Amino acid sequence: MTAGDVDYDVLIAGAGLVGLALAAALVESGLSVAVADRAGTTASDDPRAPDVWDNRVYAISPGSAEFLRGLGTWQALPADRVTPIETMRIEGDSGARLDFSAYELGERALAWIVEERELRAALVRRVREAGLAIHAPCTFESLSFDRSAASLGLADGTRLAARLLVGADGLRSWVREAAGLKADIKRYGQTAVVANFACERAHHGRAYQWFRDDGSVLAWLPLPGRRVSIVWSAPERLADELLALPGNELAARIAAAGAYALGGFECITGSAGFALQLMKVATSVAGRLVLVGDAAHGIHPLAGQGVNLGFGDVAELAAVLSERGPLTDAGERFLLDLYACRRAEPVLAMQTVTDSLAVLFNTANPLLKSGRNLGMATLNRLSPAKRLLAQAALR
Ligand SMILES: Cc1cc2nc3c(=O)[nH]c(=O)nc-3n(C[C@H](O)[C@H](O)[C@H](O)COP(=O)(O)OP(=O)(O)OC[C@H]3O[C@@H](n4cnc5c(N)ncnc54)[C@H](O)[C@@H]3O)c2cc1C
Repeated sequence: MTAGDVDYDVLIAGAGLVGLALAAALVESGLSVAVADRAGTTASDDPRAPDVWDNRVYAISPGSAEFLRGLGTWQALPADRVTPIETMRIEGDSGARLDFSAYELGERALAWIVEERELRAALVRRVREAGLAIHAPCTFESLSFDRSAASLGLADGTRLAARLLVGADGLRSWVREAAGLKADIKRYGQTAVVANFACERAHHGRAYQWFRDDGSVLAWLPLPGRRVSIVWSAPERLADELLALPGNELAARIAAAGAYALGGFECITGSAGFALQLMKVATSVAGRLVLVGDAAHGIHPLAGQGVNLGFGDVAELAAVLSERGPLTDAGERFLLDLYACRRAEPVLAMQTVTDSLAVLFNTANPLLKSGRNLGMATLNRLSPAKRLLAQAALR
């Protein structure tokens, strides 16, 4: 392939939140950028009824919110669909408690709860306004690389050639597979059940999380008004049982599991389940290819950090590409290695922390069980250590 044969400098395969954020972050890079996805992107434009809620919600860290603000998308979110977590209460299975407060940390919020649909729509709008090419819906069919470009073949016969191909196509990444990058997967034997509810009492911006005796982790996240979104990371059998319940019975189960901290519940969305796994790759780069987001790392959602970690990838990749100086080739191996080197530590740290917590709170070992509760209670009394932990999560 010769220098004139490429369609784009950067082709982003996967237009989830991470792929779209990367496209938005490259708008002013001077690079020609395109995104491709099997799903259409027009659904994000449909008018949304005020009482229709997305059961996929994310806790967006203040650091990620700042990053999204820099892309011009955070401020484009409808203010009435973004909820600050002002305090958080975490409870162990034998009464131990850990409390965090944004006020005590000098922050407006510990995190912000946003529906996926809203965030996605804001990112799609930004990418469209910037006039970036969007190939969607399309089916990825073949992938090849040569010295000067990566070439993605689509099912309709189109071939898209780019200096750099970015695999942003999620946990079960087709791009990762097709490029032969090995993924090491550890299944947790748990499914995360998500759904939204109206609750009887005001939540006052408090998020709750219970590490339960059965090894499951239940989180309630505040939504606007008297509403919450829940994530119950439960052993598969319990998750199947919850997913099969009609709305009113599920609402009663969730309210009872949280000891009616917000009174009675009423279901306002359907429920959905996500099988949980830790996914590590030996390398996230190859010749003319880089992986970002869930395509590069899968973590347990108990800390609500997966997409935040993906936004961290995006910020770093955009920085490396913008610092490329006289290098005009965005797929230059040196740049990809620099990116991989800068992301290795934060990704490993997050995988280690979330995996350790998932294992620690899923054990039946009585010593570890009492140790974890003691640890939680001790940490709650050690203000400096607690502050350090919270500051790390905020960024
Ligand atoms: C229950 C649960 C709760 C979570 N809560 C949080 C939270 O509170 N905070 C947080 O930070 N993270 C959270 N996460 C993690 C978060 O969901 C993921 O990290 C995030 O969605 C990853 O985004 P992504 O863009 O990398 O991948 P995805 O969202 O999976 O997007 C991938 C895109 O690629 C496209 N695609 C895939 N395959 C193909 C193909 N073959 N051809 C064409 N297109 C393709 C898809 O259509 C999609 O648009 C949670 C995860 C779970 C399971």
